[in-house]
Amino acid sequence: MLYRKLDEITGLFGTRLTFLKSELRIETPNDLLEHYPFRYVDRSVVAQVADATEPGEYYQLEGRIENFVEEGEGAAKRIRSRFSDESGSIELVWFKGIRWLKTSLKPGVRYSLYGKLTSFKGALNMVHPELDPVEKVANPLGGLQPVYSTTEKLSKTGLNSKGIERVITSIVSRHAFQLAETLPEDLRAELKLIGKTEAMRAIHVPRDARELQQAQRRLKFEELFFIQMELCIRKEMREKSIQGFSFDRVGEYFHAFYEKCLPFELTGAQKRVIKEIRADMVGGKHMNRLLQGDVGSGKTIVAALSALIAIDNGFQATLVAPTEILAQQHYLSLKELLAPIGVEVALLTGSTRKAQRRVQFEALAGGTIHLLIGTHAVLEDPVVFKNLGLAIIDEQHRFGVAQRARLWKKNLKPPHVLVMTATPIPRTLAMTLYGDLDVSVIDELPPGRKPIKTVHLFDKDRLRIFGFIKEQIALGRQVYVVYPLIEESSTLDLKDLMDGYESIARAFPIPDYQISIVHGRMKPKDKDFEMRRFAKGETQILVATTVIEVGVNVPNASVMVIESAQRFGLSQLHQLRGRVGRGADQSFCILATDAKLSSEARMRMRTMVETNDGFRIAEVDLELRGPGDLMGTQQSGTLDLKIANLATDSKVLYFARQAALSI
Ligand code: ADP
Ligand code: MG
Repeated sequence: MLYRKLDEITGLFGTRLTFLKSELRIETPNDLLEHYPFRYVDRSVVAQVADATEPGEYYQLEGRIENFVEEGEGAAKRIRSRFSDESGSIELVWFKGIRWLKTSLKPGVRYSLYGKLTSFKGALNMVHPELDPVEKVANPLGGLQPVYSTTEKLSKTGLNSKGIERVITSIVSRHAFQLAETLPEDLRAELKLIGKTEAMRAIHVPRDARELQQAQRRLKFEELFFIQMELCIRKEMREKSIQGFSFDRVGEYFHAFYEKCLPFELTGAQKRVIKEIRADMVGGKHMNRLLQGDVGSGKTIVAALSALIAIDNGFQATLVAPTEILAQQHYLSLKELLAPIGVEVALLTGSTRKAQRRVQFEALAGGTIHLLIGTHAVLEDPVVFKNLGLAIIDEQHRFGVAQRARLWKKNLKPPHVLVMTATPIPRTLAMTLYGDLDVSVIDELPPGRKPIKTVHLFDKDRLRIFGFIKEQIALGRQVYVVYPLIEESSTLDLKDLMDGYESIARAFPIPDYQISIVHGRMKPKDKDFEMRRFAKGETQILVATTVIEVGVNVPNASVMVIESAQRFGLSQLHQLRGRVGRGADQSFCILATDAKLSSEARMRMRTMVETNDGFRIAEVDLELRGPGDLMGTQQSGTLDLKIANLATDSKVLYFARQAALSI
């Protein structure tokens, strides 16, 4: 029956069909069936208004609404009402669909309400709750009622959640409803997965929670299984079709560096990943590898050694960083490391002067530059290498897939690609997103590092924080104080930064203390100057916006104070904290926030205080924000999952991947 058209199977026509397509991208019966409920309401539980006290919780209530009150003008327009039962009353607020509300909801009618309780300026209310006349919600099948996403336009044609439910229920409850099985019989038997037809019915019309859970498990598995199959196939095709440069020599540069210039003994993990990288490049296969390592785990040296393998084979290498400061820092440290063995390192960023650029382009095309370090400027068209053999991309999460592709175009044959990320991507996400990439993990920190101690303090603790900073500076340490910078409101943020700077300058007066300040509005040259003063130890405190977030390395800095920490995401907080704890001294991170925090912000602070483990933090981040946000919108398209949830379904994903691999 799936082969029939949507109109035949649903009996829908006209605007409803058109809107299904334009609003929800539902064009086929299959699309409709895969428009899974995003939630189920347990209609068997009705709370009393007086018991609805926990912000963030969903409640089902029964009662009546009062007359609507309109407030505000234009975009600020909103409508309010109160909802009451015998036990009490609560405020309701709407910002949209005002006309529709006034015509379809009637004061005095007994409604069943479902919504999330929110707390606004200390008062409890519900924003855009669902309201249905009580007699309409009675569900003869049992407690669980599916809730479907829909849009205002569709709702107006009668296809609100309830309308969609009716259409889908009528299809899946037909006696003749039958779908082709998509999973092999033995696989289903082995993993105890229910059949496709049964699962599809139960996901839309569950008889009870157990049946629903079985249906979800089966459909999630199917979804992830096919993605994994595709990734496995893609990887195999890439390996077959793309020949990589074969770097069969591990030669003079590598050995000379390893024996004479290596500033420390490599950790076991560093040695292991260098072996993995070498094995890829030696074999003539095309390397496409993700190198994951927590902040401070020592990825830079791995990058340097990988570059030397390319250079030993007569090729050039490039290291691309997401920010100018980071590119510069890489340049300075790698130049110093590699100069003794005669490797030519150059820096190309947006602020490299024209005249110098011309000289560089020539040297690149002529092959006298061995290693080019830079920002995205490296990806721009006029940059031509003689023979680029390896492209290393640092802090990958800032780089889109498209930018990576541009690197490929720089050669006839694509260079080997090593993507380094300090934001540990949870295993589940890495498998799904990068199933066609090989992954190396540095899971060991250099010896002698002490775990950073993290505390969460409030703005009122300011004097204590200053006192602590003084103690640390007296011990010879340096301190970062970081302010958030969100681009859209950067004027305000800049003011916060300047106010903060002034109060710090008052508490830490010259000549006893020297303070650096760095922010996004400064010229690169000035930023660089200040960063260097701090790196050299000439200033004790660096007041900055998040420009220092990635990669900056000042081992003597032992205190990181993050102001308005509630405005940062978890991965950013972890990155920032990673700026300290790089030397042998005990390091500290102080998260300063307002006294009042959302429950999510509280969770972020608690996580930071509890753990230094980047993987654990990434997992909590994934749970709190969802995978789309984590990867930036550019890649969220890859994750257009209909039912599976990467944050919570790692077990199902694991089985799906194993099954795909074995096939
Ligand atoms: P990240 O992985 O965050 O890029 P870096 O490469 O910047 O880390 O390394 C962090 C610090 O650790 C640097 O100061 C670096 O010199 C040092 N380091 C790296 N590897 C080792 C090691 N095996 N032993 C001691 N120190 C190391
Ligand atoms: Mg780094």
